[in-house]
Amino acid sequence: MIHVIGGGLAGTEAAWQIAQAGVSVVLHEMRPVRMSPAHHSSELAELVCSNSFGAQSSDRAAGLLHEELRRLGSIIISKADDHAVPAGGALAVDRGVFSRELTETLSSHPLIELRREEIPQIPDEGVVVLTTGPLTSPALAEDLRRFTGLEYFSFFDAASPIVVGESINRDIAFMASRYDKGEAAYLNCPMNREQYLQFWQELCAAEKAELKDFEYETAKFFEGCLPIEEIARRGEDTMRYGPLKPVGLSDPRTQHQDEDLIQQDNPETLIQNPKSKIQNPKRTQHQEEHLIQQDNPETLIQNPKSKIQNPKRPQNQEEHLIQQDNPETLIQNPKSKIQNPKRPYAVVQLRQEDKAGQLWNMVGFQTNLRWGEQKRVFRLIPGLEEAEFVRMGVMHRNTFINSPELLYSTLQFKKRPTLLAAGQLVGTEGYTAAAAGGWLAGTNAARLVLGLEPVALPPTTMMGALFEFISSASPKHFQPMPPNFGILPELGVRVKSKKDRYGMYRDRALADLDHWSHKLRLSVA
Ligand SMILES: Cc1cc2nc3c(=O)[nH]c(=O)nc-3n(C[C@H](O)[C@H](O)[C@H](O)COP(=O)(O)OP(=O)(O)OC[C@H]3O[C@@H](n4cnc5c(N)ncnc54)[C@H](O)[C@@H]3O)c2cc1C
Repeated sequence: MIHVIGGGLAGTEAAWQIAQAGVSVVLHEMRPVRMSPAHHSSELAELVCSNSFGAQSSDRAAGLLHEELRRLGSIIISKADDHAVPAGGALAVDRGVFSRELTETLSSHPLIELRREEIPQIPDEGVVVLTTGPLTSPALAEDLRRFTGLEYFSFFDAASPIVVGESINRDIAFMASRYDKGEAAYLNCPMNREQYLQFWQELCAAEKAELKDFEYETAKFFEGCLPIEEIARRGEDTMRYGPLKPVGLSDPRTQHQDEDLIQQDNPETLIQNPKSKIQNPKRTQHQEEHLIQQDNPETLIQNPKSKIQNPKRPQNQEEHLIQQDNPETLIQNPKSKIQNPKRPYAVVQLRQEDKAGQLWNMVGFQTNLRWGEQKRVFRLIPGLEEAEFVRMGVMHRNTFINSPELLYSTLQFKKRPTLLAAGQLVGTEGYTAAAAGGWLAGTNAARLVLGLEPVALPPTTMMGALFEFISSASPKHFQPMPPNFGILPELGVRVKSKKDRYGMYRDRALADLDHWSHKLRLSVA
């Protein structure tokens, strides 16, 4: 007997797969005895918001996941297909009929017992699948936190958008780490003053998503981790002292311009205009000393901002001083940017999200803006004009565990392999991804009871790549992930057209899945 806790998208699929494998299962669903703050009914697999499972075409990430699930006998996708409504290229369903029929189908299965009860603690024994979703009841969440350890459990999701690497313009964005510390690990999108001000204005004016009633408490929680639009609203320069600070970052393209300037410099001009030396950081120390002696000491004394006039001050000292700068001064004195001609006025940094470097996370861009607005405004950032977003920024209630620390790609806990988890709780995102997790966790739970080895899906499939990602991403920066082509292993050949490339990903995924599932069926038989 297996226990599945939570009858949402993942739990419904898990319970069905267990029963299909010939194993008895109890599905514990707390509704309607105890409602979550977002669900409205007592039906299984309720769609809490949109009625769409995403794009239908199999050369799109969501569509490929649908097709994989279809081939693996998913009940969620089968019922979605049965109750699809027209949605212009998306798989959308009549949500009422969809959930009602799933409830009836599972309730009438001889191997499935549906119990309407809240489970406040992880059962100590037996094979258990946790699928309690983003709004796991507080008692169970507390017990899970104890089980996983405080630092590996999150109640809220403050995520920045994730961008496909190849959609970032590398003629503009440059690789560097701040102060050149360690290897060059960030992609940096430099802005000049004009670009920054336009971005700032658009960000301040952009439309926000409405919070759900139960999310107002989230807003309070996030006081220490402000949305980017809120930082922007606090003042013209506030972002330049926060996530967009340019200190320690030199734009190599500007450096080239400087070098051109150096070659063009006329020493005469420099002597006549002592300040011009600050525009040339490449001048040698010897030359500098000579020039400084010719400086008019009056000027230096009278001008308290003389730090910008001393090109010999070590770079780290400069940075220290810049950090102490009063934003007011910078606003009043736009020339302050000449303190380091290679330093952009502001910089947006992107951090690598996956091992292969196909996905990049916009650092510090957690946001409550509407998704359309995020795309419009963030594409104003130089280098991101054509950005393809695989995940938009969010700040909402979301219970999830740090899967890279805790789970195998079979969805078993490392600490207790008879305990499995799936759905939003493990950091996959969206209805279809939850069904996919339910399929794998249910299949493996049944295999454990049947004395078979748990399985992981081929990493070239969308399902396999998703579970590989959540179990091997960097635990430090782990954020929930929707299905997307960026998590698939590269093809090994360069295919320029995106449509053709995605078509090739699909063909490879489906061929590998068919081969794998054929072997799986043989192993069960
Ligand atoms: C407000 C909101 C809006 C969303 N909108 C979308 C959207 O438009 N599109 C999309 O793809 N995704 C959306 N999501 C994400 C969505 O929740 C997931 O895609 C999907 O529902 C996850 O499936 P799941 O099975 O992990 O969780 P759920 O579908 O939430 O299922 C979890 C189930 O566990 C039950 N449960 C919780 N605790 C216990 C307990 N202790 N004992 C017994 N039962 C328990 C709950 O009642 C629930 O039925 C939204 C999430 C939220 C919170």
